[in-house]
Amino acid sequence: MTDDPSVTFGPGGIDRAAHLRGDAAALAAAFAGADALCLPVWRGRPLLSPEGAGFLPATHPLCAGAAEPMFLGLVAGRPHFAIDMSGWEPAPEEQPLPQVFYDASEQHHPLAGPDRRFADLRGAMARLPAAEAELVATAKALAAWHDSHRFCARCGQPSRMATGGWQRTCPACKAVHFPRTDPVVIMLVTRGNRVLLGRSPGWPEGMYSLLAGFMEPGETLESAVRREVFEETAIRVGPVRYMASQPWPFPASLMLGCRATATSEDIRLDHDELDDALWLSREELAQVLAGLHPRVRQPRKGAIARYLMSEWLADTPRSRP
Ligand SMILES: [Zn+2]
Repeated sequence: MTDDPSVTFGPGGIDRAAHLRGDAAALAAAFAGADALCLPVWRGRPLLSPEGAGFLPATHPLCAGAAEPMFLGLVAGRPHFAIDMSGWEPAPEEQPLPQVFYDASEQHHPLAGPDRRFADLRGAMARLPAAEAELVATAKALAAWHDSHRFCARCGQPSRMATGGWQRTCPACKAVHFPRTDPVVIMLVTRGNRVLLGRSPGWPEGMYSLLAGFMEPGETLESAVRREVFEETAIRVGPVRYMASQPWPFPASLMLGCRATATSEDIRLDHDELDDALWLSREELAQVLAGLHPRVRQPRKGAIARYLMSEWLADTPRSRP
């Protein structure tokens, strides 16, 4: 089910070629080679082209000689890398907006050419081909992890990128650190003919989605779903079933899509977590997905919430939890 093409960042067919990561000389030779491609990432924003991801030849002046290229893997035998160039300063009028949900600003690097720009991946994700989406998600998540883990979590000394970007090692205490992925449960909660939607504080007007929350240490998927739904809305949940997953590099989550059956229906909001929550009928949800609902916006294309909603609308009794 995770292969469904409507879910962005699904399997894109990349050969991650993990056996190459430990061979620094081979990786350096691959990065210097004529067929290598490289994706610059700037402060969490990938380079994009009008067609999709803005991969450049690794020999391009923007990429060549980068100190710490991250090895994403092979696509049809071609090595793909990413570099973080967050040290670059764009023109003052192109500075991104601080602290907004979706920042539509674009940054043009003078060496990248007129068509390429750094931009928020949310705005482009639904039109990326599967392989590019997987590469960009991997690049963005890896770059974010290195940026926020420059020091050893055990002893506090500066750590170093290793194995093509897939580890950080500490020269002082020899600890080895691996890139983080944070599991998040996202659940389509139903009660008969109705589905539960909520909106977080700060979301754009009219935006609602399925409830979601980070898993905690020691929890199962099912207990995380039940806890999150109860904490946010005081609704009790019975059966829970896993449906599909989606890497979500904002900055480093893995969305675990579930269906859950509510055993109660009175909503009591936790206002720290949610601005609002409501039950919508199947007919109303169909309106939402068609962009025709008077109050609730369409969910973003490519997001797993939309997929879970569409699957429920197209549901047969056999596939219900
Ligand atoms: Zn250390």
